[in-house]
Amino acid sequence: MLFIYRVADEQSVRDLIDARVPNRHGTAICRIGGGLAVVVPDSDVELAAALREFSAEHRMVTDHAEAALSDRLLAPSGSVVPLGASATVGGADFALIAGPCAVESHQQLADSAALAKSGGAVALRGGAFKPRTSPYSFQGLGDDGLRMLAKVSAETGLPVVTEVVDVTVVDAVAEHADVLQIGTRNAQNFSLIRAAGRTGKPILLKRGFGCTVAEWLQAAEYVLAEGNPHVILCERGIRSFESSTRFTLDLSAVAVVKHISHLPVIVDPSHGVGHRHLIKPMALAAAAAGADGLMVDIHPDPKAALCDGNQALGEDAWLDLASALRAVLAGLGRSLPAAKPVGAGLS
Ligand code: PEP
Ligand code: MN
Repeated sequence: MLFIYRVADEQSVRDLIDARVPNRHGTAICRIGGGLAVVVPDSDVELAAALREFSAEHRMVTDHAEAALSDRLLAPSGSVVPLGASATVGGADFALIAGPCAVESHQQLADSAALAKSGGAVALRGGAFKPRTSPYSFQGLGDDGLRMLAKVSAETGLPVVTEVVDVTVVDAVAEHADVLQIGTRNAQNFSLIRAAGRTGKPILLKRGFGCTVAEWLQAAEYVLAEGNPHVILCERGIRSFESSTRFTLDLSAVAVVKHISHLPVIVDPSHGVGHRHLIKPMALAAAAAGADGLMVDIHPDPKAALCDGNQALGEDAWLDLASALRAVLAGLGRSLPAAKPVGAGLS
C-alpha cells in the first residue's frame, strides 16, 4: 500500500513506523513531490489503519506497481534533481553533462572541463573507478582521480558525476562528487545501490543492458526506499542481436519512463552506440524523444584516450553537436543554458 501525505509532522509518521516495524522492513518513507510517500506491505492492515488515522490529508493507493515511489502520480509534473548547487535535471532547462570516459590526469580533465563548458555542459563526467570488462584494461586512477575531479570542479564551478563501482568506495566518492553514478554492470547490485542511496547524494542510475524498464525502475526504487528522492535515470543502450552499434539505444524507453515515472531521464548516446559518427544523430533523437538531458563522452584528444576513445567527441564534433542540440531544443520549446567560458563561475 502506498500512502501519500501532506503532513507537517513528518517525524510522527516515522516514529509510528519505527515503533511497529522492526528495521522498517518492507516499508519506505520518502519525500516526493512536496508530500510524504509511505509504502507499507499490503498485508499489514493494522499499520495501514494506524497510518490512515494519522492525518485526514492523505491518499491511499493499493494497486500501485512494484516501483511505487517512482510512480508519476506522486509528482505529476516530474521531479527535479539537483546537479550540485548550480544546475538541475528534470526542470525546464535541458541538462548537458559531458566529460571523458575516464579521468587520466589533471590536465586532461581540466581541458575536458573547458571543452564541456564551452558547449554548454552544466556538469562534468569522468570515471575515477572504471568497471572494465577486461581486467587488463585501464581501471582508472581511483582515489587520485577523485581528487582531480574535486579540484577541477572547484576550478571551473562544474559539478561532477562519477561512478561508484563498489560499496567500499561509496564514502570516498560521495565526499568528492556531486552525483554518484551506478553503471550498467552494477544496475542490479542492490547492496551497492542501497549504500549509494543512503549517502543522500543524487544518484545517476544507468539502465542495466539486460534490464527491462520495470527492472530499471525497481532498481531506482532501492534508492527512493532509502529516503533519497534524488534519482536520475540514464538510458545507455541494451544488448540486442544488432552488432552495428555497441548496444541498442532504446529511445522508446525514454517515452515509456516519462509516461509512468516522475524521475528525470537522460540519455548516454556515447556508450549506447559506441561510434563517434553516430552520437550526434542519437543525441538529437534523444532530445526529441523527451529526455531531460544527455551525458556525452568528450576528450581533448580522443585518439590518445585511455578508455572508449572511439566514442569520444573531440572539440569540433562536440561543439557541432551542442549547436545542433540548441536548434532542436529551441524547436521543442526547450533550452540549453548559455555556454560559459572556463572560470566563469556558477552564476
Ligand atoms: C560510463 O559512463 O563510464 C560507463 C562505464 O557507462 P556504462 O555503465 O553505461 O557502460
Ligand atoms: Mn566509457
